[in-house]
Amino acid sequence: MTIENYRKVIERIYSEVLPYQGTGKVADYIPALAEVDPGRFGIAVETLEGDTIAQGDAEICFSIQSISKVFTFAMVLRHMGEDIFKSVGREPSGNPFNSLIQLEHEKGIPRNPFINAGALVVTDRLMELYPRPKEAILDFVREVCGNDDIYYDRRVAQSELMHADRNRALAYFMKSFGNIRNDVEALVDVYCHQCSIAMSCVDLARAFRFLANRGVNPADNERLLTESQAKRLGALMATCGFYDESGDFAFRVGLPGKSGVGGGIVAYLPGKLSIAVWSPELDPHGNSLMGIETLERFTTDIASSIF
Ligand code: GLN
Repeated sequence: MTIENYRKVIERIYSEVLPYQGTGKVADYIPALAEVDPGRFGIAVETLEGDTIAQGDAEICFSIQSISKVFTFAMVLRHMGEDIFKSVGREPSGNPFNSLIQLEHEKGIPRNPFINAGALVVTDRLMELYPRPKEAILDFVREVCGNDDIYYDRRVAQSELMHADRNRALAYFMKSFGNIRNDVEALVDVYCHQCSIAMSCVDLARAFRFLANRGVNPADNERLLTESQAKRLGALMATCGFYDESGDFAFRVGLPGKSGVGGGIVAYLPGKLSIAVWSPELDPHGNSLMGIETLERFTTDIASSIF
């Protein structure tokens, strides 16, 4: 498909999905997220050739939340390789993103890196790999999206830190099994900061191009992950990227992707493009309702998915 065809598809889907506004619910368990304008809606597509399509609020920054779990996991996978799978599994959890119940049966080893428990373990390892983890995360994200202005939204981070008791509980519980090594308060501080990173749809679509390009950043040809690591990360996104809605996302959309409770979703078509959508109203699983609707229409219209 030509870029002009993609542009027409995005314009049409944007107007088709707009009437869904008001059917979801903005996340309110983190007060700073509850203040976001529910009417925001943006879509960005980045092709591997370097073309950009930006529709609606595609250039407004928002809180990426759990999308950050892909960046931290990529950083740790790059350094630790397969060893990370001794501490975190690779099966869908079938449970909500912040659930505690599986952890007791599974002896403090979270099901996968994209539920909160798994992401906390990944960030714990990252803190051992990098002496200044917050700076390292920001540097990595800035590098992959080619935008040095990416920042931590301190207000969101503070708000989240004040309401992070469930994440603290997950971390302490895993620490009792020896699967968290750092001080829990220091860990939750880094974790809340990574969730507070503010990016636009255009930034996010650019940041996922190295995954669409099998581990190589097309902007400078730097290999960030081996081909096998990129495959593994994609497989994890395709099976676990949407918590207890991962199966439905695969069924409806058919792309590897990751969501966040800020209302963002990023997905990619290997070898071709990445696409980010932002609409803060969530469905009951904590995924952007209009985001999934948009992506379902996108893969249907372009008649392409990973399946
Ligand atoms: N910061 C959020 C939390 O830890 C991220 C959750 C999400 O985006 N699903 O609860």
